[in-house]
Amino acid sequence: MKLYNTRTKKIETFSPLNAKLVTLYCCGPTVYDYATIGNFRTYMMTDILVRTLRHAGYTVKFVMNITDVGHLVSDSDTGEDKMEKGAKREGKTAWDVSKFYTEAFLSDSKKLNLVEPDVRPKPTEHIDEQLAMVKTLLDKGYAYKIDDGIYYDTAKFPTYGVLTGQKLDELKEGARVEPNPQKRNPTDFALWKLSLDSKVSGKKRDMEWESPWGKGFPGWHLECSAMSRKHLGEQIDIHTGGMDLIPVHHTNEIAQSEASSGKSPFVQCWVHGQFLLVDGQKMAKSKGNFYRIFDIEDKGFDPLVLRYFYLTAQYQTFLNFTWEGMTAAKNSLTELRNHMRIFRADGRNALSGEKMEKINAFRDKFDAVIADNLNTPQALAVVWEVVKSNIPAPDKYDLLMYFDEVLGLKLNEITAVSATEIPADIQALAKKRDQLRKEQQFVSADTIRKDIESKGFVIEDTPQGGRITRA
Ligand code: AMP
Ligand code: ZN
Repeated sequence: MKLYNTRTKKIETFSPLNAKLVTLYCCGPTVYDYATIGNFRTYMMTDILVRTLRHAGYTVKFVMNITDVGHLVSDSDTGEDKMEKGAKREGKTAWDVSKFYTEAFLSDSKKLNLVEPDVRPKPTEHIDEQLAMVKTLLDKGYAYKIDDGIYYDTAKFPTYGVLTGQKLDELKEGARVEPNPQKRNPTDFALWKLSLDSKVSGKKRDMEWESPWGKGFPGWHLECSAMSRKHLGEQIDIHTGGMDLIPVHHTNEIAQSEASSGKSPFVQCWVHGQFLLVDGQKMAKSKGNFYRIFDIEDKGFDPLVLRYFYLTAQYQTFLNFTWEGMTAAKNSLTELRNHMRIFRADGRNALSGEKMEKINAFRDKFDAVIADNLNTPQALAVVWEVVKSNIPAPDKYDLLMYFDEVLGLKLNEITAVSATEIPADIQALAKKRDQLRKEQQFVSADTIRKDIESKGFVIEDTPQGGRITRA
């Protein structure tokens, strides 16, 4: 299997550290609000990666956290904690906000048929592990204390910035004007923040813990380092997230994990997904192009249509969300489901050697394109090649079910419709249409087809005549 690795900036053949188990970590949502369809594009990429690895025979331990504390509004360790901000907005505690949006996230994930991670750790449940990591970094001389917390000294870590390919000096220049003059370098970041910052929000923090350095809360970057170590070990195979996490969050995770364990690399292969755009622009509340799963459902779309839509672009390319694009995805998925019904209803015949070869070739082609850096648009192209091919219907059905292990479009939930379920009047119309087609009266035959479709049925022409199924 080939994957683009942000660390080496190359497409590489993936091979896990331990042949028996692939360890994979994905940065999960910060549960202060609903996740957007942009966020879900990144989780979808991770889902396809996990499914593809399992489909190829690997055992995967998949961990995706739920960030429920410490993710600040600004990357420069100032400003409010997103969770506390959400609590103020809704007049609830940060704990209640976390509970509500975690449930919403799990429900949306289910609707998109995203694979369940093996572990969904929360930083609020891993305070001891995070404190231990801060202590190790202090003991090893990688961290220092200033008035508002414990910070990581990025100048002490020689390979800081390896993911972006920038040197520390370049990163320092690009960093924002430093609000805390006590920080040694503009790129230094908080490992543990002291609660005195809660004055910013004008109220006491809902989430805070005792520590050897004073009451406070963990930094967002520290959470992923501590939880990935706890659940996957000091060195892991794959780490995923959106492109925007490369310069700060993932850069800082590497610095913390490698400095505390003394092992490098922390992650063998970093996989980053490109952004979802809306009408060609970045998604933003101010632009009114900010969609959640319920916005998709409100417009009458099954969330699995969004899943199909995501599959139409390879994860490293921008994907532009439009309602026209969603309608096209809906039509394709509906057509695919209708075909599945027909394929499933068909009886099985003996296979010729030539058809057997074709089936194997389709299977190999699908496996090859998906293993080629997760080329989902090519994988969909193979789906349609199979649909249009001349292999027997039950074999089409079996192949598409095999592909669906990766695509996750729930094609198994299509129930076969037998001829007896088609009402007699519809069957009579179909018979009449067959006769007209035999007589080459195609215009009249088409009028009947439209009539049949308007009554909620689909007709497909086969050498044996029109085959009807429920739409
Ligand atoms: P957040 O909850 O802001 O930490 O974001 C969760 C995940 O969604 C991160 O991996 C982000 O990189 C990713 N993300 C945010 N916006 C988009 C977008 N428009 N398209 C794709 N991924 C995104
Ligand atoms: Zn993370």
